[in-house]
Amino acid sequence: MTTTTSSILDAITVPEGHGRPIPDAATRETIGHAPVHGLDDLEAAIAAARESQPAWNALGHAERSRILNAIADDLEANLEELARILSREQGKPLDGPNARFEVGACAVWTRNAANTVLEPEVVFEAGAARSEVHYDALGVVGAIGPWNWPMMITVWQIAPSLRMGNTVVAKPSSFTPLSVLALAEIFNRHLPQGVLTVVSGDREVGAAIAAHRGLDKIMFTGSTEAGRKIVASSAQNLARLTLELGGNDAGIVLPGTDVTGIAENLFWGCFINTGQTCAALKRLYVHDSVYDDVVEALAELARALPMGPGLQDGNVLGPLQNQSQFDIVKDLVDDARARGARIVAGGEPAPELGPLFYKATVVADIEDGARLVDEEQFGPAIPVIRYTDVDDAIRRANASEQGLGASVWSDDLDAAVAVAKLVQAGTVWINQHGTLNPDVPFGGTKQSGYGQEFGVAGLKAVAAPKVISR
Ligand code: NAD
Repeated sequence: MTTTTSSILDAITVPEGHGRPIPDAATRETIGHAPVHGLDDLEAAIAAARESQPAWNALGHAERSRILNAIADDLEANLEELARILSREQGKPLDGPNARFEVGACAVWTRNAANTVLEPEVVFEAGAARSEVHYDALGVVGAIGPWNWPMMITVWQIAPSLRMGNTVVAKPSSFTPLSVLALAEIFNRHLPQGVLTVVSGDREVGAAIAAHRGLDKIMFTGSTEAGRKIVASSAQNLARLTLELGGNDAGIVLPGTDVTGIAENLFWGCFINTGQTCAALKRLYVHDSVYDDVVEALAELARALPMGPGLQDGNVLGPLQNQSQFDIVKDLVDDARARGARIVAGGEPAPELGPLFYKATVVADIEDGARLVDEEQFGPAIPVIRYTDVDDAIRRANASEQGLGASVWSDDLDAAVAVAKLVQAGTVWINQHGTLNPDVPFGGTKQSGYGQEFGVAGLKAVAAPKVISR
């Protein structure tokens, strides 16, 4: 493993004694110290955002798009350095659909926010009468993000907001402040003063953002529990909300599906970012006719794919990001074992790799009602549930309170689409799970939140619609 000096890291960290030590998720060595911002810093950031917003808005779409495209170029130019910071802090390896992939996605989503066209819409026309909907800036957006895809999710929140003429105050998870500070370091090479400020605070700062009268919109990604608190706080400021909350995504493998064709997509649907992904496949319903084949195909990949510290070449699975998430995964798998479920791969920590590593785990012969099925594990452990009747599988998939994503797997596309129509989720994928496209709207149903991100829908979500009628 090599550690190189990083000018971005030097720019965003503070001397020891002036901030919070941030551990490398794999080795637990201190990467650097992150500033700890409090309520005074939040007030200053919101004041600066309010002051800079009119001029930023007045630049117009073409200039803001130019700036965002320049930011995307700069993200790409600094991809390796950003990916190393992300890899160490979050834990995800450089390789595979992980750290380099995430920084690359930041550039792609920034470019998409820059280049998506949102023209005024003519909604009524009769003779001389005409009504148009225009999309204006809202003002100041508060962006509160999680620790699992900290850079990418922050980009999803801030890039469309900036494009639409808003200024932004962003609050990263206290588990991953360096990733978001590093991202903002690149953005702020191009943005006027005050347009984007990161307030690296804890939940108290998050709660204060949610209720602050100086904010017009909150983009929140995190747990359903925190989402409820934000909805309650928004009674204070009537801020518009986009809530991307937790998920417990179901996958349904239909009868007779050829397993070899889907095994790899199925595996990454479950284990992307070592399972710490909102829209990962978290409970898999498999028809009896292919059950043993699917379990074995997943278990083979789980045993074979390299897990280890992120900076070590070749690893594609990493540690859990923090102790409490590690404890959740361990408890849920232990509970499944105690109920008599069959551990086909993994099922235990891997302390030889580091304190927060847990082996990629496949659990068979498990039923709804087990905690590993009913609760969000947010880690590398997939329960595989046997079914015999497709309608019953759909009913069980829909029995969850969450409705972020879902997937249907089959060689018969028509059959898969027919099932997809009956599954309750913001997105239903076919023969894939969790793949995102910056032009395609993404968001949850039920307790997974409301509002959509990406593309035209995403721009509208950070804009104030204004009707001009004549
Ligand atoms: P979390 O809710 O604990 O924290 C998310 C952010 O909210 C952090 O920045 C935290 O400091 C802040 N926060 C916590 N309480 C707050 C409050 N009362 N008011 C304002 N801010 C508050 O979530 P997490 O543990 O960081 O992330 C994991 C969860 O996020 C999982 O449930 C996962 O499914 C979900 N998630 C959803 C999506 C999505 O797009 N739907 C994406 C990623 C993660």
